[in-house]
Amino acid sequence: MTVQPEKASAVVESCWCCGTQYSEAELVRLGQHPEVGVCLRCARWLQRRAVQRLDERHPSPGGRLRGGIRAIRATVIRKGWHQRGQLGVLLRWLDRHLP
Ligand SMILES: [Zn+2]
Repeated sequence: MTVQPEKASAVVESCWCCGTQYSEAELVRLGQHPEVGVCLRCARWLQRRAVQRLDERHPSPGGRLRGGIRAIRATVIRKGWHQRGQLGVLLRWLDRHLP
């Protein structure tokens, strides 16, 4: 009978954006600064912020459409509709498929 070496426990690190702890598989690293890890949710938030900045710098019909979606998203969050039962489930699902 052989004894298997104990597996190293999963490394848990904090997201540099929200501070929540995640395993390495749930973090995205920056290219030139691999010490910086951002969770997938924060990476999505950053991506949306980057697209917003690009839309502001280069106005276009698509940018105006995304701006409208951002305004609706902000209203939904401000009113807390995303946390209301089945409506919240539907809105969160829809949000995952919008830019
Ligand atoms: Zn985060």
